Amino acid sequence: MPLVIADKGHRQKAVLSYINDAYSSKNERKAAKNFMKSIWKKYPVEWKEIDNVIHIRFKTSAYNYHSYGVDLTSDELNKLAEISTKINVYMNNLDRKGDQRCLSDQHYDITYDSLLKVLNGETMYANMAALSSREPDNWPADDFKPLIPSWIPEPIRSKIINYFECYPHAYDHGYFHFFYNIDDIKFILGIAPTHVKEECAKAHTAHDNHDLVTMFKRLGYASHFMEDVGIPLHTGALLNQAMYSVDFNISTFSLNVNSNEWVHHAYEDYINDNWDNGYKFHDIEKNNVYSPGKERDSEQMAVELADYSSQYSSMVFFTIYYNKDNKDYYMNDTVLKTITENVVRETSTKEMRMLRHETL
Ligand SMILES: [Zn+2]
Repeated sequence: MPLVIADKGHRQKAVLSYINDAYSSKNERKAAKNFMKSIWKKYPVEWKEIDNVIHIRFKTSAYNYHSYGVDLTSDELNKLAEISTKINVYMNNLDRKGDQRCLSDQHYDITYDSLLKVLNGETMYANMAALSSREPDNWPADDFKPLIPSWIPEPIRSKIINYFECYPHAYDHGYFHFFYNIDDIKFILGIAPTHVKEECAKAHTAHDNHDLVTMFKRLGYASHFMEDVGIPLHTGALLNQAMYSVDFNISTFSLNVNSNEWVHHAYEDYINDNWDNGYKFHDIEKNNVYSPGKERDSEQMAVELADYSSQYSSMVFFTIYYNKDNKDYYMNDTVLKTITENVVRETSTKEMRMLRHETL
């Protein structure tokens, strides 16, 4: 229900524009918009913060912030539910029509669930941010070449450049650690946390301009990059992924040169296959409770998440790499399962902290 409550200005405009898109019949569209306008006039929307949780409701005579619209007539409640459902169905269809990318469902779910937990039931904005969280994979890639240090020895340097040329998004959407286990040397390639910082800054500007639609879109973009660095293959084992393996096929006497990129996709498929089914990693995320109090700078939290997930990069890579023809093995591997549960939980935690920090 909170979807269509909406207070003045941009929120109400956003609801009206969704009605415009969601209703194909001109008369129904007009009726729905008129109904919403009359409801907003009759019961102005009220906000109240209780125990750090923002409640929104129609301002009716009974002052109970935990129930929405207690004084609305049942006709009005039904009509609101109908409009709310119509908009939700429209948004979901819109979403499914788009080019399905790896892990785009996970971006949607983590962003949506996290915002709901942090903002307590603001489905309209959660949906908007969640839809936006899928977009950055379609953005043009930044020019990475000047950013690959010249001191990296050949042929490693050209392998890395070659990898980023083949997968230009890896640089924007990653934060790859090198030499993780060698003393204190930590060298990083990738700018995902920078994107987190930039998108959060744009969200702030939008907020200052009272443009909540843009604000939540930007938070959706920031969420994408935060979630990406929770994936171990976005934060390490870059050289392994950039290399080629050569194998000799004994039956055909041929030498096959294979890119190792398949490992990346195999792991994404593994997460996808076990998201709502199998190990149900989605449940780990959904059940991860938000505990306030440790919010910090969002870029810094993205760096911390990348540090966390990168400890698992090699393990994830080799568990899959050595079992190319034995998918059952890594599908049933308990270590891979535990690692994935850990990174999903930590991603959810950092994501909620970021959203809380940026919407306070
Ligand atoms: Zn991405």
